[in-house]
Parts: sequence; structure tokens; C-alpha cells
Amino acid sequence: MASATSLESLTFDNVWSRFPQDFFSRVSPTPWRDTRLLDISPAGAARLGLEVDDIDRDRLTALISGERLLDGMEPLAQKYTGHQFGTYNPALGDGRGLLLGEAMTSQGPIDLHLKGAGQTPYSRFGDGRAVLRSSIREYLAGEAMTGLKIPTTQALAVAINGEKVMRERVEPGATLLRLAESHVRFGHFEWLYQQQRVEDLERLMRHVIDRHRPNLAHQDAPLEALFQDVVTRTAELIARWQAYGFVHAVMNTDNMSILGLTLDYGPYAFMDRFESNLTPNHTDTSGRYAFDQQPGVALWNLTVLGQSLTPLIEVERLREILDSYEPTLQAAYAILMRGRLGLETEQEGDGELIDEWLRLLESSRADFHRSFRALSERDVVGGLSLSAEIESPELDSWLERYRRRLDQESRGDTERLAAMRRVNPLYILRTHLAQQVIEAAEEGDTRPLATFRELLSAPSVRRPGMEIWSEAPSASAPPVCLSCSS
Ligand code: AMP
Ligand code: MG
Repeated sequence: MASATSLESLTFDNVWSRFPQDFFSRVSPTPWRDTRLLDISPAGAARLGLEVDDIDRDRLTALISGERLLDGMEPLAQKYTGHQFGTYNPALGDGRGLLLGEAMTSQGPIDLHLKGAGQTPYSRFGDGRAVLRSSIREYLAGEAMTGLKIPTTQALAVAINGEKVMRERVEPGATLLRLAESHVRFGHFEWLYQQQRVEDLERLMRHVIDRHRPNLAHQDAPLEALFQDVVTRTAELIARWQAYGFVHAVMNTDNMSILGLTLDYGPYAFMDRFESNLTPNHTDTSGRYAFDQQPGVALWNLTVLGQSLTPLIEVERLREILDSYEPTLQAAYAILMRGRLGLETEQEGDGELIDEWLRLLESSRADFHRSFRALSERDVVGGLSLSAEIESPELDSWLERYRRRLDQESRGDTERLAAMRRVNPLYILRTHLAQQVIEAAEEGDTRPLATFRELLSAPSVRRPGMEIWSEAPSASAPPVCLSCSS
């Protein structure tokens, strides 16, 4: 595969458009007026084998406004269904995003998906549009997650449009050009299962294997191997969310990726102070998708997926595979948390040390990320940088225990602290910082967006003069209100 040198040199092989007719609807984007690019992501460009300088801004603007597609694209809206807040909804599908084409890059196929591209047959009552606020939040989320090595979709670019969109208030419209190895969701399988279409169900599974997991094709039971792969990757994904204080907030099965990517950013949040039941979506009043519910919800979602695969895989086998979820998640989480505490070896009592640390953060209302970072700074053995973050009478006893645990490590302090700083980021996509970026962009100033994007792409590397980007929100600031309606 020759590498691309410009957007126009990308080649497309649109497998989805060759699927049975009702898997999708052919829809062209509804073009926006007066579109202006806000930012292009170098990491997003790299996924396409491009550098930002290779990209002609006028051509990208024409693409992201929905005005002019690239040669070889065949835009379509995908049909899927899903469980939303526990209830099956048969009427879902791409309601405001279009799969424009599947680019063949040297690293494999990449979907180009235009979010905010106008109405489709699956829009129900929606206008098919996206607003600036949520588009910038999704754009930055792709950067932040990539920077934290958490599997995710990621946008190539985000643009503001001249037209306004009505939500809780009138807001600037926007579009996002989203990249993903695949947009196949658990909900695609639920749809086929509900219709009892066993052949199509198998066809879709084989498609995922052939195109994205070719090594599974040679196993004795490739379909079982694919389900095992989804369970393992989902467990590892959730472990990373939990270790980095990320709340997705809308873990409906139509927002779950078959490749284990973080997909569909809405009212998500990274924690500021540690709150185990944080529920950033203000309409989720029961806390169904609270932070500490995520491991259980993902298993529930995997069980729904497993149910959809019962025509193809023995129930007993599905159960066995589902049973591997919990230990996989626990093991992955323990490795991540030990890394964040600088522990190279595994010792008895590590689990309690980690739990006590989290309890200490929660009871003292300390900032989650700043506390981990403070633990990675030079003077932690004296407790200085930590006491600036954590005000608690229990801090000293925890530190004492931690120091004793560190004595069991053979690595020197300097080396350990450097390793800890690499996994304890300084720059976090905090809601109040994203809000500042959004407000500046609404006023026409895109510099904060570019600055924050760059910091988030290497979040552990301290940059001089960038202190405001690592600050926790002030206690007196009103909380930013987040909901699904974006
Ligand atoms: P989400 O909560 O973003 O995952 O969306 C759930 C479903 O609603 C998906 O099928 C979306 O395509 C659809 N949807 C969300 N917002 C809109 C909108 N403004 N217009 C049309 N469809 C939408
Ligand atoms: Mg969705």
C-alpha cells in the first residue's frame, strides 16, 4: 500500500456499501454554509499516514462542510439498534453522522465519519446537526485518550459553521471528521439478532475478523475467538477508564465498539476531585452510568452482545468467555494502578494500598490527577508536594505504609519517579478547561484549542508557562452542566 501524500491521494475500499441493502442508507451530507476549520490534529493526520502540512486546508474545509467529497467516497448512514439506559430501541442508526468512506492506509482501513452531516432515515426527531460545544469536546477527547494510550476514535479536524443550531439555547453548528478503524457497534449485532438473521450475523462477524482481526481467522473457532477478543479488549478498556478517572456517561450498547475503542463522546468527564459515583450527565438521575458502575455496565453490555450471538455460539461457551471479563479487568487495573504508584513488583497487600489511597483521596476531596502527579514529584518521601494536594489526618499513616512498600522495590528513587511521571499526567481534559476553549472558539479565538490539543497529546511532559492547563477548577466556580442533548 503506497502511503498517501495528500487527502486526495487517499484510496477507499467501501466494504459497507457492498453489504445487504438494509444495512445502511445512502445519504449525501447536507452542506453547511460558511464553514471555518478550527483545528487539525497531527495525531489524527498520522492515522491516515499524513502530516498536517500535507493537508490542503481549502480541500479539507470543502470536505468537512459536506460540500465536496473525495474521489472514491460513498457516503452512507449505518443501521444499528441498541439498549439505551437498559431499554431496547429498535429505531437507532447514524442519525447525524455519515460514514463517508473507508480509507485504505498503510496501517489498515480507517473509517472517515462526518459527524453533524445532516438528517438521515435514522434521525427520528433530530436535526442531524452537531453543535460547537460537543464537537470541540469530542475532538479534544480523542486527543486526550490517545495521549493516555486509551483506545479511541479520534478526529482529524473540527470546524465551525455559519449556521446556528437550536438546543437548550441557540448555538453555533459544527462538524467533526472522525476517524476509527471501524464504527461497528454492539448494536449492529443486536439489530441482526432481533430480526433472526443468522446468516447476516455471521457475515458481520466474519467481516470484523477478516478486516480487523485477521489473526483470529486461523483459530479453530474464529467466531468464539472474536467474542473472546471483544470481552478481553473491553475489560482492558474499562480498566484504563477506571485507572484514569474517565466517565463515559452514556454507555448504551450502541455506543460500545466491537474493537474496544472509546466511542461517541457526549456528557463524558475526567474527574477533578475523586468521586467514585461521579455521574456527569445531569439527566442520568439514577446514576446508571456513574464512574463506579462502569465495570458492571460493560459486562451487562457484553452479555447483551453475547445474547445476540446465541444463534452462532453455544451458550455454555459464551458464559465461559464472559467469565473471563472480571479477572481480565482486575488484572489490567492492578497493573495500571501499580504503575501509577511506582510499584514494579507485585506484592501482597497492593490492592489494599491502592484502595486506601483512593479512599484517602475521596474522603479528603483531593484532586485525583494532581494527587497522583504530586506522588511522582521528588519530595514525596518527605510528603511535601502531597500535603499541598491532600488535607487529611490520614495522609501520614498512608505515606508511612507507602514508604515501607517502596522499600520492597529494587528500583532507585530517581528512576521510579521518572517512570511514575510518565504515567501520571499533568494535563487532563478537565471540563472547566474544555469550557474555556469552547468559549474562546465561540468568540473566534482558536489558539486555546490548539494549545490544549497539543498539551493533551503528550500529557505527562511539563511545558513551561502552561500552569493554567494543569489546574483544578476553583471551588467557587459553578459546575458546567452536561447532557446528551448536543
Ligand atoms: P448518542 O446519544 O449521541 O449516542 O445518540 C443516540 C442516537 O440518536 C443515535 O442514533 C444518533 O445518531 C441519534 N442522534 C443524536 N443526536 C441527533 C441529532 N441531533 N439528529 C439526529 N439524530 C441524532
Ligand atoms: Mg451514539
